[in-house]
Amino acid sequence: MDLSIVIPLYNEEENIEELHKKLSETLSQLLISYEIIYVDDGSRDNTLRLLEEIQKKDPHVVVLSFRRNFGQTAAFAAGFDFARGDVVITMDGDLQNDPADIPKLMEAIKDADIVSGWRKKRKDPFLSRRLPSIVANWLIGKVTGVRIHDYGCSLKAYKREVVKNLKLYGEMHRFIPALASWYGVKIKEIEVTHHPRYKGKSKYGIGRTIKVLLDLVTVKFLHSFSTKPIQFFGPIGVLFMILGVIIVGYLVFLKLFKGISIGGRPLLLGGFFSVLIGLNFIGMGLLGEMIVRVYHETQKKPIYILKKILGPGD
Ligand code: UDP
Ligand code: MG
Repeated sequence: MDLSIVIPLYNEEENIEELHKKLSETLSQLLISYEIIYVDDGSRDNTLRLLEEIQKKDPHVVVLSFRRNFGQTAAFAAGFDFARGDVVITMDGDLQNDPADIPKLMEAIKDADIVSGWRKKRKDPFLSRRLPSIVANWLIGKVTGVRIHDYGCSLKAYKREVVKNLKLYGEMHRFIPALASWYGVKIKEIEVTHHPRYKGKSKYGIGRTIKVLLDLVTVKFLHSFSTKPIQFFGPIGVLFMILGVIIVGYLVFLKLFKGISIGGRPLLLGGFFSVLIGLNFIGMGLLGEMIVRVYHETQKKPIYILKKILGPGD
């Protein structure tokens, strides 16, 4: 199979029919074999029912349905797990991304591993959306060293190898280019069209930007192969310990061997503080090590649970 399209949908009943119509128009003209994987992210409206209707009529359609709302990243992850196409394209289900851009992406992916959409003329409110994105894009670029203008754009194309075996969680899907860059992938950026949401309301508020930034910290410190901040406490603790032991040892020496009184010395206080802070920080350092390991352990936990899978032949 040449192409898998992956689309997360959470309460998008008003958009599905139009979306499927537009997608099918474009894809049928491409003369390639393709599938459309609609991922119902625990919708509480008629999304799943409408998807089932579409799936019955169109053999290109695969429907994955989650038991509850696991989030857009989990939905992408499920799509990646099931995708059979050599190329995987992701997009939003509210027609903000334009299916008409798919041929451009297919062309560009021929000599790249990831093609990232760039919404140069983004049709979202400035203060609540575009401004936080400008800051986030700048920061992500700085921290990861992978400079893309528009990390948040869902419309992206990947060679299948890139998205298989990725461990995604949180708001991590937008960091795929950064995560994948570690493997030495070639990333291209192309300008894509952007529209206002076709129908319905956005599923996100400003809180997402904060989540994105917290995930950035994780990406940087747990995935990016460099230092782990919480583990800094250990070495600092050891330094304080050593300092404290030297100070206290010195004072004990004065008292025992020189017979000098050590009461009332600020240094005494400093010595004890140093030992205590040292112990404290070593404890925190150990906790940090545990958290890091627990984190690696929990990666076995799936980030989504499927309720239903419908494909050709069902
Ligand atoms: N979405 C999802 N799960 C969620 C939130 C959103 O699958 O928990 C889907 C949503 O249905 C849409 C896409 O992710 O297809 C982007 O969401 P939205 O349009 O609300 O985000 P915005 O464009 O405002 O950033
Ligand atoms: Mg949208």
